[in-house]
Amino acid sequence: MSRAFNFCAGPATLPEAVLKQAETELLDWRGTGMSVMEMSHRSDEFVSIAETAEKDLRELAGISDDYAVLFMQGGASSQFATIPLNLLGENAEADYVSTGIWSKKAIAEAKRFGNVNVAASSEDSGFTTIPDQSSWATNPDAAYLHYTPNETIGGLEYDFVPESGAVPLVADMSSTILSRPLDVSKYGLIYAGAQKNIGPSGLVVVIVRKDLLGKARKETPTMMNYQVIADNGSMYNTPATYSWYLAGLVFKWLKEQGGLQAMGEMNARKASKLYGFIDDNDFYANPIDPRFRSWMNVPFTLADDALNGEFLQGANARGLLNLAGHRSVGGMRASLYNAMPEAGVDALIEYMTEFAKERG
Ligand SMILES: *Cc1c(COP(=O)(O)O)cnc(C)c1O
Repeated sequence: MSRAFNFCAGPATLPEAVLKQAETELLDWRGTGMSVMEMSHRSDEFVSIAETAEKDLRELAGISDDYAVLFMQGGASSQFATIPLNLLGENAEADYVSTGIWSKKAIAEAKRFGNVNVAASSEDSGFTTIPDQSSWATNPDAAYLHYTPNETIGGLEYDFVPESGAVPLVADMSSTILSRPLDVSKYGLIYAGAQKNIGPSGLVVVIVRKDLLGKARKETPTMMNYQVIADNGSMYNTPATYSWYLAGLVFKWLKEQGGLQAMGEMNARKASKLYGFIDDNDFYANPIDPRFRSWMNVPFTLADDALNGEFLQGANARGLLNLAGHRSVGGMRASLYNAMPEAGVDALIEYMTEFAKERG
């Protein structure tokens, strides 16, 4: 068996050690004679798996008891509606910052439920930069301020946490959560689809300050009501048990790697190596304002688009997979999440060097 380097933006590569542990435990979880997939979510065994996962995540990210941690379903996209239903009162307004395709999707969905103020946008630049916060037209009475710390498709990432004063800060951290240390206390709500840095797709982790619970509109579907989910330990209905278990294995693995500090150092090294190479090589280019280049998703173009197919074919043949850019932007994109080892970046750079020499 050989494992390729998988640069997919999501579902993304998982730590090999985690997959191996899941393999070992697949048929018989710790002498129970059952797979985790086959366990009642109310069983002592599964409840211990679920509680351990939450405890490890709280330790990793420094999440205090002021916050509830919810393991929900429907991916990050379902949160685009869940957030306004819970936090945006009937006549209130919410601030959103538009920095790319994911924030635009969040904005479009929120508009279905109430007043949205787009406080700032970098669309004019083709979403290649983050507008300076001094230029944001925020509403001091907004129900919340929503932003997207890392735009997965564009490869654009904030290098600061917006100041929102008394307005709760809401962050779509799908593609950057756990990639470096974070200060949860600055946020009202953090959400992240699992399939980039946490585990399998479908699961979405929500970290929400408890004083924001209990404000959902009357018509909010029960399954989307944070208070209900929190009151029931994310088991109002059958949760995504196996995904929750795998997420727990990833949290353990992250702790063994030295936690978020160590991850941040490794991720900074990987990103700076690849961007450094792209900048030094005339054959490749990245369009993003260097200050706001994503550590997690590195888009790049070749000097000649006609060579894209050949580039991807050669990459596949070497076990460097899923380097095609998002269908909406083209070019290439290498996603370098936590589970991508530095050796993967080295192998990619080696291939890019050779390709540019031969075809450049
Ligand atoms: C992947 C992604 C999403 C969508 O996640 P789904 O789980 O597919 O709904 C939303 N926001 C960001 C920033 C993402 O990277």
